[in-house]
Amino acid sequence: MRDLGRIKTVVVKVGTNLLSSKTGIDKARIDDIARQVAHLIELGYNVILVSSGAIGMGAKALKHNNPVKHIPLRQACASIGNPLLMTAYQESFSKHKLLCGQVLITRNVLNNRTGYNNMRAAVTTLLQLKVVPVFNENDVVSTSEINNVFGDNDRMSAYVASKIDADLLVLMTDIDGVYTGNPKTDPDAKLIDEIPELTNEVFGYAKGAGSTFSTGGMKTKLLAAQIAQKGGCGTIIVSGYEKDALIRSVLGENIGTYILPEKRLAQRQRWIYNTSASGSVTVDEGAEKALTVGHKSLLPSGIKDVSGVFNDGDVINVKAPDGNVIMKAITSFNSSDLLRIMGHSTKDIAKMLGDVPKVVFRPEDSIYIN
Ligand code: GLU
Repeated sequence: MRDLGRIKTVVVKVGTNLLSSKTGIDKARIDDIARQVAHLIELGYNVILVSSGAIGMGAKALKHNNPVKHIPLRQACASIGNPLLMTAYQESFSKHKLLCGQVLITRNVLNNRTGYNNMRAAVTTLLQLKVVPVFNENDVVSTSEINNVFGDNDRMSAYVASKIDADLLVLMTDIDGVYTGNPKTDPDAKLIDEIPELTNEVFGYAKGAGSTFSTGGMKTKLLAAQIAQKGGCGTIIVSGYEKDALIRSVLGENIGTYILPEKRLAQRQRWIYNTSASGSVTVDEGAEKALTVGHKSLLPSGIKDVSGVFNDGDVINVKAPDGNVIMKAITSFNSSDLLRIMGHSTKDIAKMLGDVPKVVFRPEDSIYIN
């Protein structure tokens, strides 16, 4: 058995493949998931579902059998598929006298404090009412062109887990967990039971993308686990085809792969980590050292380059001279002011801009990215 610590809130993500049948929705699978969720609620857990499948369901309803690449068609499929998916969930949950409620979000909802607070209040109320929140990305309005996209529900579920202080994220998929190689081609590939640290070696095990209608692959699942990890939330990657996989995972059985949580970052730090960067600054070697070794504030004099358009108070990436992102931070200057003052000393800046902050950000407004 695994020691999962004290678990109260569980986020469960269900992938498209698991939910799909040849003709549309695999009703038996949805029934099975609803049964397991109902059982966990009965045991006293808060359970939040993140369900993929809208685009796939919509595509199948349109008798479209190829991957849907054209973005407006994906949006249309999501619009058709989401109500189909929710109807299936409603029917299955009603067998356990439970209701479920739909929560469609975009990246902006979580990036924006008001949006996030509204979402959190709604979800807390649903949980108090013993209604199962069913999340999906609002694919009808979130596209990569307008940069408000999560891109896959693996990472979205991890952001949700981190933002609502969940204790466990269960990614239910169509493979047994993380293997040391590709189990389809490598007979020596072994299923990993526990991953304490998400090293480059672990990421090396996971290559390739998802299937026809889904977007995730094992790599996105590990990236999701990394996001959850910083929020103090462990992740289990497990096959949804295993009998009672969800219940057994939550109760600590050694099933799938468990990625251990780290110490939960403070709210502010987590906010920075989970918010997408609006732009970036590249620092020189001296500033890099001051930031990473000395844990100092960043001064405008240490900046070599600024990219993107951002306001003061936005989250930005901080890049080392080699271009690697080393930190994320809340900037106290907007991008146009930073472009003017980069490389200048504090004295010059006072002459150029008047009474402005002396530092671009302080250590408490930043987080290291490994
Ligand atoms: N939001 C997409 C859908 O419901 C799925 C994204 C994913 O596969 O992760 O179809």
